[in-house]
Amino acid sequence: MGEKRQVYLDYSATTPVKKEVAAAMLPYFTEHFGNPSSLYTFGQEAKTALRTAKEQVAGLVGAQASEIYFTGSGTEADNWAVVGGAMWKRGKGRHVITTEIEHHAVLHSAEYLAKEGFEVTYLPVGADGLVRAEDLKGALREDTTIVSVMFANNEIGTVQPIAELCRIAHDAGALFHTDAVQAAGSLPIDVGALGVDMMSLSAHKIYGPKGVGALYIKKGVNLPTYIHGGAQESGKRAGTENVAGIVGFGKAAELAGQDFETRTKKIAGLRDYLVERVQGEIPDIRINGCLEARLPGNINITFKYIEGEAIMLLLDMAGVSVSTGSACTSASLAPSHVLKAIGVPVDEIHGSIRMTVGDFTVKEDVDYAVDTLKAAVEKLRSISALNGR
Ligand SMILES: *Cc1c(COP(=O)(O)O)cnc(C)c1O
Repeated sequence: MGEKRQVYLDYSATTPVKKEVAAAMLPYFTEHFGNPSSLYTFGQEAKTALRTAKEQVAGLVGAQASEIYFTGSGTEADNWAVVGGAMWKRGKGRHVITTEIEHHAVLHSAEYLAKEGFEVTYLPVGADGLVRAEDLKGALREDTTIVSVMFANNEIGTVQPIAELCRIAHDAGALFHTDAVQAAGSLPIDVGALGVDMMSLSAHKIYGPKGVGALYIKKGVNLPTYIHGGAQESGKRAGTENVAGIVGFGKAAELAGQDFETRTKKIAGLRDYLVERVQGEIPDIRINGCLEARLPGNINITFKYIEGEAIMLLLDMAGVSVSTGSACTSASLAPSHVLKAIGVPVDEIHGSIRMTVGDFTVKEDVDYAVDTLKAAVEKLRSISALNGR
């Protein structure tokens, strides 16, 4: 093995802020520090910057600027859509549908609703990680008000047939929300073609800053106010805007749309190369979720007989960052709800790691990571009590 490198393969957890993004943000901390609600020049400069950012974020998903509402995170956007949507329509009914593989921002919002007297149906997924249209059809009821299905999964990268699921929900008179935090910047998205009523986005997954998200709310969908206070975000999400963060989000969204094909193709090529090498050089593995409908940068692999946590730590010592489960749950020992939902046996869930490739990954990184991984797996298996062979 060559010299030690620093290799980051966890772009699904977060991404570095691109230099152009940081440069665009900087002046809004210092010279352009005005409050966008102030009517004098300082304020109006900031307000103009917010408007530009809104257009940039809208442009990434084919929305109108007036349909983008900035939030403090992707998590907040998910909470607003799911809880707000259910509360808004509670006169019609108290039934909500989501899936077993959602991010906790949606799952825990649904659990909150359940505690408040709503009924929640969790759609299953197949071993491929995909929701079946028939399952949604079967779950929809007269009193269903909102359906929330994530666009792409953060652990196994599988991409749902959103346009089709949305049409089915609408035919039954329900609102449709999708968490597109992982999909944005990695898949082409057009809210018009998809037909969704709400869509969650987050800046730090697309090379923007942490602590900024957005909820797309389709024109005519009158979601209730989420944060009460001033008139910011059309009076729906009060609080002085995170101007620099929003400017960064806008810039990141603009960059995400540039050279889209070339970028995503390069990422998919590196991911495929990684998978090919692992499959060819490491025995007793399994790829979790289907390879076809999948984010370009994602792969989730089970290494039988050993612990993913141990692999992760050995890789970290060699400078390689990967994750077990999602970033939000990796500190807990609870087995991944996503891998459970696609039918991975519990002992194999514990042997799983996620690797995600991004814009700054190069082939040498992948080679170094696979070399390191191979050595780590061999070492752990040689001392593993679970090794039945
Ligand atoms: C990261 C992520 C979120 C949460 O976004 P934050 O901005 O980190 O709160 C929600 N959903 C998915 C699918 C994610 O990957």
